[in-house]
Amino acid sequence: MRDIPKVELHLHLEGGAPPAFIRGLAKEKSVDLSGIFRADGGYTYRDFWHFLQVYEAATSVLTSPDDYARLTTAVLEESAANGVVYSETFLSPDFCGGGDVGAWREYLHAIREAADRAEAQHGITLRGIITCIRHFGPERARPIAECAAQTAGDWITGFGMAGDELKGKPADFKWAFDCAREAGLRITVHAGEWGGAQSVRDALDALQPDRIGHGVQAIDDLALVDRLAEDGIVLEVCPGSNVFLGVCKDWRSHPIEKLRERGVKVTVSTDDPPFFGITMTSDYENLNRHFGWDEEVFAEVNRTALEAAFCDAATKEKIAKRLGTKAP
Ligand SMILES: [Zn+2]
Repeated sequence: MRDIPKVELHLHLEGGAPPAFIRGLAKEKSVDLSGIFRADGGYTYRDFWHFLQVYEAATSVLTSPDDYARLTTAVLEESAANGVVYSETFLSPDFCGGGDVGAWREYLHAIREAADRAEAQHGITLRGIITCIRHFGPERARPIAECAAQTAGDWITGFGMAGDELKGKPADFKWAFDCAREAGLRITVHAGEWGGAQSVRDALDALQPDRIGHGVQAIDDLALVDRLAEDGIVLEVCPGSNVFLGVCKDWRSHPIEKLRERGVKVTVSTDDPPFFGITMTSDYENLNRHFGWDEEVFAEVNRTALEAAFCDAATKEKIAKRLGTKAP
């Protein structure tokens, strides 16, 4: 399972931070983060909302472009060790320069340099999707969309929204998404992780995304499932994350296979893997164990992911070779 070449579309860069890396950085900066670590060194928290707090505490030690370069290196080494050959990561100018375009460019430059080194060393390609944070509100999303529009191109390829799905409505963020779309960016929105099937409908109707982050709660509304299948909306499913955070009570009850059987384009990603004690390899092992997914199914899922990737055709051709398939 580890050696299967994988395409991952839904990974928050800060959410990929290995706990040892964050602990080391906190120590260098004399920041006391002892409250967010378990005795064995992993991250600790009670539920999704506490997770968001721990996440923000952990990311508070990432304060400079150099910190983000080191973070990128640490995250890509871990991804490559799990067979990932192409990754799209969510980047938040909120955390990288506070929404200022000039500061954001410096962070982006450092991240890209680290990504280029990782590609040369480990054969993993990274592209960025800029995300606004839903619970920071629509006004905060505007400068973030401007950062996205100003740096859109062959590396920053998409715009999205993460954060607490129960706060605000997708329609409130229409200005930000229109701004990003006009700059040529592709669109993905977190929905249907906590907000129910209706949150997926709201995101589709208000923001016309190419992909939905999570979307698994669509399973409670079969007309919506059929709409996703017919419109070819790709779901960035993060099953290990869903099981760990309690979106689904266990692996057996996870809807990924039901969605796939009904014709929805599903892909597999890890979201914030070290925060959940998971990797792409462990998710593949669980999908194999609980749903019998074999190499053929994984090959199909990775082809779907490559097709749905926001990178350009030349990059897709390069990645297709690593997957041992034809470019979509
Ligand atoms: Zn996410």
